[in-house]
Amino acid sequence: MKRISILTSFSNVLSNSPIDIIPNSTFSQNYQILSSLDSSSVQLNFLEKLWASYYLYMNNDIFATGLLFFTLHELMYFGRCLPWYIIDCIPYFQKYKIQPSKIPSNKEQWECLKSVLISHFLVEAFPIWFFHPVCNLIGISYQVPFPSWSSIALEIFIFFSLEDLWHYVFHRALHYGVFYKYIHKQHHRYAAPFGLAAEYAHPIEVALLGLGTVGIPMVWAWFSQSLHLFTVCIWITLRLFQAVDAHSGYEFPWSLHHFLPFWAGADHHDLHHHYFIGNYASSFRWWDFTLDTEAGPEAKVEREERMRLKAEAKKLK
Ligand SMILES: [Zn+2]
Ligand SMILES: [Zn+2]
Repeated sequence: MKRISILTSFSNVLSNSPIDIIPNSTFSQNYQILSSLDSSSVQLNFLEKLWASYYLYMNNDIFATGLLFFTLHELMYFGRCLPWYIIDCIPYFQKYKIQPSKIPSNKEQWECLKSVLISHFLVEAFPIWFFHPVCNLIGISYQVPFPSWSSIALEIFIFFSLEDLWHYVFHRALHYGVFYKYIHKQHHRYAAPFGLAAEYAHPIEVALLGLGTVGIPMVWAWFSQSLHLFTVCIWITLRLFQAVDAHSGYEFPWSLHHFLPFWAGADHHDLHHHYFIGNYASSFRWWDFTLDTEAGPEAKVEREERMRLKAEAKKLK
């Protein structure tokens, strides 16, 4: 399939595609022109046309990518937190709360919201504008059409797996002495977490654990030279959903880990906040299981039983 380059200026678009783009055209004009290509050799789906129209309309790729990712982060993070806030206000759902005696007060949620917003606008809003030049440097594509859904799904699974390992290692490290005292303690302010608390953390922690979310796709892009920016958008969205849901404090009979036993979810991360130790991974349960760091009283009993059996086996030798 022919690829249309969406470059900084309209003239570049014209030289790389059969599109008759009008300079300074509106978003809908761009969309209509791209739609008129349907009968030609270039066929774009709805999302691809929206994507291309957006970049053509913005006519400044650095600003377009920066704005896209900043808006995506805000909308997906707070959009995912909102249903959990509503659920906290409805008594019916209290029976699904993992720590039912600890419903967050409006004051707690408001203070958390203020802190997260300050972090987003003062800490993350600055580096995000360097994202597009970095994408160009390491070969992340933003042209249309997008890659196939199967390759997007495969790359996202790889990012989830690698980020999970990154998170396990560095989150576990953040629980050691001075790292905990000066950095990670902030995130553990809420022993019973709620959605908004997912990104309530010290800026060093935000940068360190955020590197697992952003840095891993970058390294992947550098080596594969086939990563698309649209895949990064989906990955960031799903990773945000995972982080917010893990902090929701709710365990339902339909929670994902009942169907995917290796999925972590709120059940897993709530125990980490409750007991301050164990369950260090973000998305999956396999590292805590394999490295014997599962949290909670049940895991403690099982661990002690295993140690007892080991000691008895040693005695018999
Ligand atoms: Zn922790
Ligand atoms: Zn947490």
